[in-house]
Amino acid sequence: MVRDTARAFSEKTLAPNAARFEREEKIPREVLAELARLGLMSVNIPARYEGAEAGAVAYALAMFEIARGCASTAVTMAVTNMVGEVIEKFGTDAQRDRFVKGLATGELVAGAFALSEPEAGSDPGAMRTTAERKGDRWVISGTKAWISNAEFAGVFVVWARTGGAGTAGISTFLVPAGTPGLVVGKHEDKMGLRGSCTCALTLDGCEIPEDALLGELGGGFKIAMMALDGGRIGIGAQASGIATAALEAGVAYARDRKQFGKSIGEFQAIQWMIADSRTELDAAKLLVLRAAQLKQAGAFFSREAAMAKVFATEKAGLICDRMLQVHGGYGYTKDFAVERHVRDVRVTRIYEGTSEIQRTVIARNVLR
Ligand SMILES: Cc1cc2nc3c(=O)[nH]c(=O)nc-3n(C[C@H](O)[C@H](O)[C@H](O)COP(=O)(O)OP(=O)(O)OC[C@H]3O[C@@H](n4cnc5c(N)ncnc54)[C@H](O)[C@@H]3O)c2cc1C
Repeated sequence: MVRDTARAFSEKTLAPNAARFEREEKIPREVLAELARLGLMSVNIPARYEGAEAGAVAYALAMFEIARGCASTAVTMAVTNMVGEVIEKFGTDAQRDRFVKGLATGELVAGAFALSEPEAGSDPGAMRTTAERKGDRWVISGTKAWISNAEFAGVFVVWARTGGAGTAGISTFLVPAGTPGLVVGKHEDKMGLRGSCTCALTLDGCEIPEDALLGELGGGFKIAMMALDGGRIGIGAQASGIATAALEAGVAYARDRKQFGKSIGEFQAIQWMIADSRTELDAAKLLVLRAAQLKQAGAFFSREAAMAKVFATEKAGLICDRMLQVHGGYGYTKDFAVERHVRDVRVTRIYEGTSEIQRTVIARNVLR
């Protein structure tokens, strides 16, 4: 039911407008509100916090569909679900009531996940942002980079150093939008996902109450790693959804386009690209669904999530590239969506842990 709901919304509202969202560099607010109304901003959030309570597998299925229609909308949805889940898992009742419910109902529009910094990407333990105690307040100072949804998010999950070196000295805080000192900066001029905003974030002596701490003091790195494990299922699903759209476009084009007096789909070279792509796409989706099923069952899924992400994102890149090839010169123009799919899918191998970091996670788990 969740998949069908996401599919119907994606086909009716997202796919026909994705090129416009990219041109206008924004997803209309009513689209985000509708995502919340359909339960797609809170797929795996309990109903007592207004979530859809449909589980991690339904979340992956919904993400396939939303990304198939619009990859930029999919990343907004992915980050918001991840933020809701992390607050639901580690938050106090008061934090859940305010923020998890606010994200699920759409009142807070979207969530933002502020971990990366200009000098700390793959290595978040090198972060420099600090949070200092001042009476009954925390004062956060530093700069975050690449923050998806920053322009319209109602709540930011912010990681900062509270004492001690390396990963042990990091804590997590909830900072509502509009808090003085929380300044949304430059909108990155990206290759793809241009409908989604990605911004720098400055925390300039940003003061928050002591109950804004999420989870334990010094427990921030663990929270980030657990959130990213789940997030990787979402990005593997996003990449698979983009590749599905590219493959569908390539198949339709191979049927229609005629050269040498026959449709190009009759040439073995084109058939093999389609055959390999369909096979790899199914394998990618199955890996994503396996990781989601393990997560849903409460089992350890870190290795499987990393496997799903690296495989799905790398194969999705290949599939989008092959489908552009099937389109010939027309694929290299903005008249055909496959050009956008090639650009949109590229970042899935970078964010929420690069392919290199996924392989490190997999190898560490296999070798230990
Ligand atoms: C569009 C977009 C949206 C994003 N959204 C968010 C967001 O909402 N919140 C957020 O916190 N972050 C976000 N990010 C940041 C993203 O998570 C980082 O870009 C990513 O983690 C990589 O960090 P980096 O860019 O600093 O690259 P670096 O860490 O500098 O890596 C550069 C290269 O070195 C490789 N490398 C680094 N360390 C190792 C190693 N140990 N072994 C092997 N290779 C290594 C990397 O794989 C990569 O190829 C976003 C990024 C983009 C592009």
